[in-house]
Amino acid sequence: MARFYVSDELSVAASVKLSPLQAHKLYSVLRKQAGDALRLFNGRDGEWQAEITHISKRDCLVEIKTRLRAQMSVPDIQLLFAPLRKERTRFIVEKATELGVRALRPVLTARTQHKVRLEKMRAYIIEAAEQTERLDLPELFETQTLAGLVEAWEQGRALLFADEAGGPPAREVLAQTRAPCALLIGPEGGFMDDERQLLRDLDFVRPLSLGPRILRADTATTATLALWQALSGDWG
Ligand code: SAH
Repeated sequence: MARFYVSDELSVAASVKLSPLQAHKLYSVLRKQAGDALRLFNGRDGEWQAEITHISKRDCLVEIKTRLRAQMSVPDIQLLFAPLRKERTRFIVEKATELGVRALRPVLTARTQHKVRLEKMRAYIIEAAEQTERLDLPELFETQTLAGLVEAWEQGRALLFADEAGGPPAREVLAQTRAPCALLIGPEGGFMDDERQLLRDLDFVRPLSLGPRILRADTATTATLALWQALSGDWG
């Protein structure tokens, strides 16, 4: 059954208008008609079954029927990443959403060369959340500098720092770090020595190594998130 994100409130008998893109998918791609069922979630009210009451090429109205699942959330791990080229940022946003991060935080480091387009990122987040069956959307933070970010750091949240220059093995560090936490991955150019020093001097920072090979930032992100979910997250 098709599954879409909407921002509207979801409750019994409510009427919801889908976006033109969602209408297009249902009408032209999935060939749905009035009377057909689909699932909706809004990140707050759980997942609901709905029925199409009107559909055309660009418009679709649905009526909310019954609640299928109660709201639930992912473990509280945030991803702090330096924006990369468009397709690689998309990959990171998509995979991090699938791997169940609570929040995505673009961070500007000295060697960050790309800008983030928050609107685009939000679209990638919604698409990934729709297909991965999660009920919440990762929160998308405004871009911050590395220095600003650590200065205003939230008490009680450990910061996992993937350091290509080396550190304790990821397996040990990740097994010892429960939520709430955050993972920091650098840009293609890596971290500068003064950034590394700044991070290592902070008591909430936990450096870690991902082994003897240098991974691309997108690989490092997915590998570390998977390992954390398996060792300390909700993979059971
Ligand atoms: N250009 C840099 C590598 C950057 S890789 C160099 O040649 O040294 C991009 C990011 O991925 C790094 O900043 C780090 O956060 C992460 N990363 C890649 N390989 C890693 C490893 N073996 N251990 C820890 N972090 C790693």
